Amino acid sequence: MNREQRTENREQRTENREQRTENRELTMSTSAIIIGGGIIGLSSAYYLHKAGWQVTVIDRGDLANNCSSGNAGYICPSHFTPLAAPGIISQGLKWMLNSRSPFYIEPRLSLSLAQWGLAFMRSATQSHVDRSATPLRDISLLSLACYQEWQNSGEFPFFYRHDGMLELCQTEENARHARHTAEKARQLGLDAEWLDAGQVQALEPDVACDTRGGIWFRSDAHVNPAELMKNLAAYLTTKGVHIIDNESVVNFLKQNNRIQKVVTTRNSYNADLVVLAAGAWSRELASQLGNSLPMVAGRGYSFVKPQQDYPFRRPLILTEGRVAITPMDGQVRFGGTMEITATTTPPRFKRVEGIVQSVNRFFPGLSLQAPANEEVWYGYRPCSPDGLPYIGRLPGLENAIAATGHAMLGLSLGAATGLLVSQIAGEQKTDMDLTPFDPARFN
Ligand SMILES: Cc1cc2nc3c(=O)[nH]c(=O)nc-3n(C[C@H](O)[C@H](O)[C@H](O)COP(=O)(O)OP(=O)(O)OC[C@H]3O[C@@H](n4cnc5c(N)ncnc54)[C@H](O)[C@@H]3O)c2cc1C
Repeated sequence: MNREQRTENREQRTENREQRTENRELTMSTSAIIIGGGIIGLSSAYYLHKAGWQVTVIDRGDLANNCSSGNAGYICPSHFTPLAAPGIISQGLKWMLNSRSPFYIEPRLSLSLAQWGLAFMRSATQSHVDRSATPLRDISLLSLACYQEWQNSGEFPFFYRHDGMLELCQTEENARHARHTAEKARQLGLDAEWLDAGQVQALEPDVACDTRGGIWFRSDAHVNPAELMKNLAAYLTTKGVHIIDNESVVNFLKQNNRIQKVVTTRNSYNADLVVLAAGAWSRELASQLGNSLPMVAGRGYSFVKPQQDYPFRRPLILTEGRVAITPMDGQVRFGGTMEITATTTPPRFKRVEGIVQSVNRFFPGLSLQAPANEEVWYGYRPCSPDGLPYIGRLPGLENAIAATGHAMLGLSLGAATGLLVSQIAGEQKTDMDLTPFDPARFN
């Protein structure tokens, strides 16, 4: 071998090494750890995987019983008004005194609750509602399109219907408010109209409705959330997404401005990208990362009955009782209540009686009976104070993205949140302006 050949070989080896290093860096920099296997975590996994990331999802539970499984399943552009809205404070105070009411804040000594309450009160203004309508509409329409794509792709089956949603009310005051909301929805480009009692009855011919009328949101769709979650997780597994269950993230190792390792009860994992999607538990984890994400857990309850006994044709909301009714896959799910509480406080089943009473007030012929406690599901909504999610990079960290705080809208906004997370991770232009969802907005 002459000198020239040796030089050539050396150069080739150097090139190969450089190539290998580049490949390793590429592989390393494309691995993502997602904390939380709810709809937000799994949607993020779906889109990150599609974008070429090696994805690991870590969940402290079995993924089958989180907030994303037992909810009402609404994909609802109709919900462009955040929970923090004018009137909610005075209404909430009245409801606090009633053990069957749809809204309750458990009084407890907690600095984070006090901070959240203050920020919630500051957000409950008309200008906040007006500012939030367009971003909420945009993200929910994006999400609806993503779910439709999932459905059309046939990658995994799930019950999906685009049957609209009826938001019913009984008092004249709420009817006036609803007409105004329908008008506002139309201004936002949504397909919505006010229907009188007769028109509502025509849409639900099999149950006698006692109502003044309601808003008919043709824009809305719904799914069976538990089935969606189960089949999405199974699909991701077949695609090589590593789903680790029954393992809790307890700590992080940081160096400079990066998370080096995600530490769990059993292991520790190298972290090139970390997505914080731990639902109502995200606040504590964010605080370990030196970040403040004000959030409380909003407990809600649901139960199912056979659709043949409760022959509703489409999703309904009963405004006065804040109850959601969803026919899905031969069953009807009844759900509701927003109970701001510690996740360790035992369930208050009296609230479920409130759901039942509300249904019987709107549909007196049904004589719905309260379910046994064992038949009741409950879950914790991750509630930010302004009712908007946190989607974006966590301040002070180069490799952490927050995707949480979706409150009453996590299922609805789940698919779009996953898409947006993958766009942020890939440093691409996002499909919408994410400023209103900035995780640093309360700093
Ligand atoms: C009665 C009711 C009805 C609802 N109806 C609707 C509806 O119709 N439409 C809608 O859009 N929304 C609805 N919601 C709200 C919706 O369910 C939530 O917004 C959504 O499920 C939140 O999803 P998530 O992925 O953020 O949280 P979750 O589903 O709670 O998932 C978070 C996951 O993180 C895991 N986790 C937490 N801490 C750790 C840790 N330290 N380590 C590892 N894993 C961890 C948890 O085990 C959990 O699996 C409803 C909620 C309720 C209660």
